Amino acid sequence: MSILNYPLIIAGPCSAETEEQVLQTCIGLAATKKVQVLRAGIWKPRTKPGSFEGLGLQAFPWLQQAKKITGLPVAIEVATPEHVEHALRYDIDVFWIGARTTVNPFTVQSIADALRGVHVPVFIKNPVNPDMELWIGAVERMERAGIQQIGLIHRGFSVYGNTDYRNAPVWSLAIEIKRRMQHLPMLCDPSHIAGRRSTLKAIAQQAVYLNMDGLMVETHIDPDNALSDAQQQITPESLLQLLNQLQWRSSLSNEQTFINALQKLREQIDYIDDELLMLLSQRMQIADKIGVYKKENNVAVLQMERWNNILERAYTKMKSLNLSQEFLQKYFEAVHMESIQHQTNVMRNI
Ligand code: PEP
Ligand code: MN
Repeated sequence: MSILNYPLIIAGPCSAETEEQVLQTCIGLAATKKVQVLRAGIWKPRTKPGSFEGLGLQAFPWLQQAKKITGLPVAIEVATPEHVEHALRYDIDVFWIGARTTVNPFTVQSIADALRGVHVPVFIKNPVNPDMELWIGAVERMERAGIQQIGLIHRGFSVYGNTDYRNAPVWSLAIEIKRRMQHLPMLCDPSHIAGRRSTLKAIAQQAVYLNMDGLMVETHIDPDNALSDAQQQITPESLLQLLNQLQWRSSLSNEQTFINALQKLREQIDYIDDELLMLLSQRMQIADKIGVYKKENNVAVLQMERWNNILERAYTKMKSLNLSQEFLQKYFEAVHMESIQHQTNVMRNI
């Protein structure tokens, strides 16, 4: 029987630092009555040596104590077969594979081998790079090792340069993996996506709107003085406030008027999508004709001035169309690339 219920809230400190910090944080989390699993990092994968890399074995008795006092199961990150061995010895209930581990198939396989025959739920964070196949590969390694309860954790992807996020959410990728792995629950870790407290709630809300199966949130009794990820951790009280403010939505409704209304609107969308595809096909036929003229006149396929002009025309209309610049750019890039492909085929006589 599974110890997990969905939507699932996992919370706890980034790292276990002291007995007092672990116990106070966990007691505060249990008091919220919303947290089902406690988390804490025992070994921390840090970018640079010399940063706080976790306390290792010393911290396990504190987690055992937290478990005893609160009655809640505990989760830790495992990154090597030795971590798995120790965690099992100290009765850890739930494991997760960190983002820096998911990128490495050798390590994932060695952890899967260490977990063979063990009935512990395992959550797999996305790899640091937005490579869906690598993420799915890690799931398959766990499945082949016979792990029955596998879940995904979306924690965002490394970004180059300054952005609003510590790790970009790339929601489209999260949606696509949810589609491909429909049998698995998927949590969101807004803490590592946000990297700071101010945007945590908005990210958690987006995850809930996308029908994620729960959240993993880093929580600390004294966030400002945390030894790792201080800027993104929140107190147990703030977590309760955040969870109470989130607008939870059910995945579906059985209410007949809702079902009928939705079906009607979806029919309209299908009709419009069919029309859009027909128009796109016509647009490409015109691109083919232009390709013929360019070929006859020895003119290059890519015309930068025209391409700029297409984008500018679209951007001037975006407000009245209520479409974002980001969408228009992606849409026209896709359409333009398809046109280029068509014209290239014409040039090559395909
Ligand atoms: C963590 O959860 O503390 C952690 C190190 O996460 P990630 O693997 O997502 O960086
Ligand atoms: Mn962390």
